[in-house]
Amino acid sequence: MTTSNRRVLLAQRPTGLPTPADFRIDEGPVPDPRDGEVLLQILYLSLDPYMRGRMSAAKSYADPVEIGGVMEGGTVARVVRSRHPDFVENDIVLSHSGWQSYAVSNGEGLRKLDPSHAAVSTALGVLGMPGFTAYAGLLTIGRPKPGETVVVAAASGAVGATVGQIARIKGARAVGIAGGADKCAFVRDELGFDAVVDHRAPDFAVQLKAACPDGIDVYFENVGGHVWDVVFPLLNPFARVPVCGLIAQYNDDPAMASGPDRLPGVMRDVLTKSLTVRGFIQREFTDQRPTFYEEVGGWIREGRIKYREDIVVGLDKAPEAFIGLLQGRNFGKLVVQVAT
Ligand code: NAP
Repeated sequence: MTTSNRRVLLAQRPTGLPTPADFRIDEGPVPDPRDGEVLLQILYLSLDPYMRGRMSAAKSYADPVEIGGVMEGGTVARVVRSRHPDFVENDIVLSHSGWQSYAVSNGEGLRKLDPSHAAVSTALGVLGMPGFTAYAGLLTIGRPKPGETVVVAAASGAVGATVGQIARIKGARAVGIAGGADKCAFVRDELGFDAVVDHRAPDFAVQLKAACPDGIDVYFENVGGHVWDVVFPLLNPFARVPVCGLIAQYNDDPAMASGPDRLPGVMRDVLTKSLTVRGFIQREFTDQRPTFYEEVGGWIREGRIKYREDIVVGLDKAPEAFIGLLQGRNFGKLVVQVAT
């Protein structure tokens, strides 16, 4: 065990796309656990789009990270010292320890992981918060029926990949939207979506319409922006739209919103097509977690759900990797390997 704790701090609040100057890396002493606490060594750090919101002081569903504070994030960690009755050295746990190499915890919110059950990094992806988001949002709000068409963007990512595969398990047709030829090939050939369209193609709108000849019954919204504009006219009467994320808009300043006002047209269709547009934050469905672990865990073991991880080695790489995530440079669930 080293004697220093490396941490990635928020140096300043970004304007637009974050830059490396918005982060600061520092080195401090490894904290000492007191009675009732454990010392955790972080093995994997999850990088997720919501972290852009935590860097901003704009009002949201969660408090921002303070300037000078450790960047927030989900982690998989090893217990390296325990003064807590429920944990022993070498336990592997899911924690929310943030962008650093060591952390102290009083045990609250820690979940023990069984490395023989699944690769422990999956607790941050397909068997963690993003997979659960896909499962709960699609099944509770989207409610796909056999034969219906489900469309999801960011389809090669942690949430989108799971959405499309669950849609197919439920007998629906899954159409993915992804950025670039490699991601599209993966979504179609590896994940088994029925069709996939590249949102960067100049004729994206024409291609999406052709891929959805019967219209769209469920649109699982992950990105917003130009993708929403193209999807929206294709929605069928009584379509359901779980609004999960708007990553294309996370770097926008809400006070500077520009462009034509589309709201009247959107509201007209919400009314005349009896659409259900419902935003959600995954934690509102926490009571579904046990069913999720059982069902999705089973589908992974049966080979019916596949996943891809994009693992970046070294905590110092986290800022650059996170900036890349906001531009679509990740390919699969983005995880930083902090230690082995
Ligand atoms: P991810 O798909 O692994 O990575 C983000 C992807 O978004 C990128 O790879 C890129 O894919 C796409 N993207 C980035 N910028 C874009 C832009 N300007 N226009 C269009 N696409 C862009 O991320 P994830 O963890 O699965 O998250 C997906 C969405 O779910 C995010 O919006 C996230 O905020 C949301 N989410 C919500 C909840 C909730 O509780 N509501 C929980 C978890 C995640 P392409 O290159 O394929 O375009």
